[in-house]
Amino acid sequence: MTSLIDADPDGFFGAYGGHFLPPHLEEPIAEVAAAYAEARQDPQFMAEYNALLADYVGRPSPLFLAHRLTAELGGAKIYLKREDLNHTGAHKINHCLGEGLLAKRMGKKRLLAETGAGQHGVALATAAAILGLECEIHMGAIDVAKQHPNVVRMELLGAKVVSVESGGRCLKDAVDSAFGVFAADYADTFFAIGSVVGPHPYPSMVRDFQSIVGSEARTQIQEKEGRLPDALIACVGGGSNAMGLFTAFLQDESVKMYGVEPSGKDITVTGDHAATMTLGSDGMLHGMKTLLLQDDAGEPAPVHSIASGLDYPGVGPQHAHLKDVGRVEYVTASDHETVEAFRTLCRTEGIIPALESSHAIAHAVKVAPTMGNDEIIIVNLSGRGDKDIDYIAERLGIEEPEPA
Ligand SMILES: *Cc1c(COP(=O)(O)O)cnc(C)c1O
Repeated sequence: MTSLIDADPDGFFGAYGGHFLPPHLEEPIAEVAAAYAEARQDPQFMAEYNALLADYVGRPSPLFLAHRLTAELGGAKIYLKREDLNHTGAHKINHCLGEGLLAKRMGKKRLLAETGAGQHGVALATAAAILGLECEIHMGAIDVAKQHPNVVRMELLGAKVVSVESGGRCLKDAVDSAFGVFAADYADTFFAIGSVVGPHPYPSMVRDFQSIVGSEARTQIQEKEGRLPDALIACVGGGSNAMGLFTAFLQDESVKMYGVEPSGKDITVTGDHAATMTLGSDGMLHGMKTLLLQDDAGEPAPVHSIASGLDYPGVGPQHAHLKDVGRVEYVTASDHETVEAFRTLCRTEGIIPALESSHAIAHAVKVAPTMGNDEIIIVNLSGRGDKDIDYIAERLGIEEPEPA
């Protein structure tokens, strides 16, 4: 049996992962793999990374006992791992700083990425600013128009935003465009991937940079409760915040783990959900073998989620493996359940969660009442919901207050 944690030397987690690249990208990606293999063994590199996490991101993030949510649900004690309190408001800054530091170590001048909703772009532009690197973000023209505030943020942070006018002018076209620039100029450029996806070494590398989340949570729950939790819950888009929480607990058989993906508007209709783990089949995407929502020709299917960070037709290969071996249970939450959970957390705890994270809360709402009062759940609150409130206001019909 292969390890739950480590990929084999070719980057395979069981049947999934690897590096499937056009010949001209093999060398630049192999260069990243070699540089990371060296950097992760270098105490000075890790010390620099950990210092940034402490002083710039504000780690460790709190592990907060949600008393009122726990009382309302009437079952297991629910703790929230507060990644929403990180600088920039989500977990993504953890791996963006790691990738940025690696780029610097490799002597690169520029960070390059694509972004969909703009969350990865903003976190990467932040890392580039603090590390003194240039940053170029490719974004589909349709997303540029839809995500105006994030475009402004990236530009304020000094990044160049490239609006991609080719193809469907969405994320897929932004990926192609960014890879085109990378292939043409990799001597000076580091390609920074925004989740535990893509060719080896990215799924392992991004996971390692995120694993601080679970390492902290493990220490914190021992301090507060004197024991390990009974269950962990995290939402899964590409899967980075989930791997971040899960990794430190994978060897502890008593800790149950749930990955929550979006069943969207309707899980029976292609294009209305992004339930990759539940309905996907083996396929190839972005240089990796993984589970994929795809059509008969192997093209990625259209996907939807109310949470833009979760609408990805693939998933990190380690998740596909953890499903295969039965270590993690993958479940779904619908748009509707997610909005209900979002409202519940706002009302009970005074915390406005990201719609992505609200998927994890929605699953806690389902399972906590089925568990005993002496049991413990940790939910990864991957980000804050400020970015989502305009959408929520419109959906719920919340209007301006009446004049007095
Ligand atoms: C991007 C994002 C996600 C989804 O990405 P993962 O790689 O699956 O973690 C989840 N939560 C928030 C707040 C995000 O910004």
